[in-house]
Amino acid sequence: MSQVVLTVSPSIMNEIKKKYNSHLSDKQPPGSVFVAKTSTCTITGYKSGKIMFQGAGAEGEARPWQSSGTASSKKATNSKKKTVGNHQYSPPGNISTLSVIGSDEVGTGDFFGPMTVVAAYVDQKQIPLLKELGVRDSKGMKDPEIIEIARNLIKTIPYSLLILPNEKYNNMQKKGTNQGKMKALLHNQAIQNVMRKVQGYDAILIDQFAKPEVYFNYLKGQSTIVKENVYFATKAEEIHLAVAAASIIARYSFVMEMDRLGKEYNVKLPKGAGAAVDIAAAKLIQKHGDQILGNLAKLHFANSLKAQKIADQSRR
Ligand code: MG
Repeated sequence: MSQVVLTVSPSIMNEIKKKYNSHLSDKQPPGSVFVAKTSTCTITGYKSGKIMFQGAGAEGEARPWQSSGTASSKKATNSKKKTVGNHQYSPPGNISTLSVIGSDEVGTGDFFGPMTVVAAYVDQKQIPLLKELGVRDSKGMKDPEIIEIARNLIKTIPYSLLILPNEKYNNMQKKGTNQGKMKALLHNQAIQNVMRKVQGYDAILIDQFAKPEVYFNYLKGQSTIVKENVYFATKAEEIHLAVAAASIIARYSFVMEMDRLGKEYNVKLPKGAGAAVDIAAAKLIQKHGDQILGNLAKLHFANSLKAQKIADQSRR
């Protein structure tokens, strides 16, 4: 399977569109201006001026336009795995070009709100499209951008979103399941859900939150433990767009849940675990009683005690 990406001027884009007039498809991905399908090639033009030729006929179809634009072409390589990194689960050197199921979680450091875990599949053919949609490491992104990209993403790629509500989280935690184990259980589950949705994949990449041995230890006793072709890396959202996409969807879901909880209790719930969180939690206790935090916060955080103290003091 070959793929050629050109960047062309609006007038050339129009010419190309005209040429494929009889092959135009009415299914258009977000950000695109046209999609045409011939028997050997799919041609997608984007608002940004990028045009993508995919399929066995890609090079032949792109050739007439090559002099009109800046080209970057690549032949999908047969992936022979060469491991780089420091453990046996380090991803192969060519991971960023492969078709990957990536997984990541959000909400683990926030007192308020659930934990959200997402596994998402990105086929190597979709990598240029995802870049067009703005998918990248989301660390610096503000919520509105996360929301916009996520809404496009969830229509574009197969994924599984698991939300661990606070009541359930607190119950598990009380029974001795630590947060690392909760993460491992949900990652393992979300990955399986995506595996069932896709035809095939080259690798699974987990944004590393524990050493691989520890991760697999957490999963002992589970009926299915996904281990084959599983790789771990820290900052994995920089390594493959599947993890970046998973992270964006997980953050989107977290933001939506925080919104929903906030509306339910008529407060704006702060993120993180700082002083603003203590104050908001204290107000909730004063208004709704001691039990309230169990519904919308992670009780084992130190914020619980601090909030209780603040609430008690102002009651006197
Ligand atoms: Mg992570």
